[in-house]
Amino acid sequence: MGNKIIPTTQLYIENIFCIGRNYALHAKELNNPIPEAPVVFLKPTSSVVYSGESFVIPNFSSRADHEVEVVVVVGKSGKNIEVSKACEYISHIGIGIDFTARDTQSLAKSQGLPWSIAKGADTFCGLGSFQPFDSKAIDLKNLNFSLSVNGERRQEGNTRDMLFPIESLVAYLSTIFTLSPGDLIFTGTPEGVGPLNEGDLVSAKLEKLSTLSLSVKKA
Ligand code: ZN
Repeated sequence: MGNKIIPTTQLYIENIFCIGRNYALHAKELNNPIPEAPVVFLKPTSSVVYSGESFVIPNFSSRADHEVEVVVVVGKSGKNIEVSKACEYISHIGIGIDFTARDTQSLAKSQGLPWSIAKGADTFCGLGSFQPFDSKAIDLKNLNFSLSVNGERRQEGNTRDMLFPIESLVAYLSTIFTLSPGDLIFTGTPEGVGPLNEGDLVSAKLEKLSTLSLSVKKA
């Protein structure tokens, strides 16, 4: 069991799964190809930071980017889940920020090395509030979300633009990993990612469902 709790739920965080390149315009802005299968990576639970706290730009990076993402919480265990049943495995939904040391990631990509440092350093996983998920009331394929820096809108997305919809991501991940209550799935970021600077205030929201606000510091 992890030692960090998911805000506004009674669940402890287990695994933190993240999906890369799930919006075509974001893949394009970073000159990445459109993937044929979901791009999967993980963040450690030690990287979690909560709304009201600070994102800390580490010494090893001079370009730390924001990536706003819809995050779903797994509520029950499952393996080889069918797409049509995937909704039943989601207990909560909210907004998160997948912070990324873009310079570190670019170097790792060029060398064919993993992204663990670029994606997983302390405070690189921002979590907002979470709401209970009800598939009758919440349409996973039509959710608006956004991110602002110092009050200025930088990213806007809608889940209808995902290359791999949320139900497909749950099903796909469950073919590889046994999903457990408390697993988080970051579902990918739309276009508009960009760097943060010391002193910035970054805020994100999932329309009608979740908010997140963090100040930015330097290590
Ligand atoms: Zn991301």
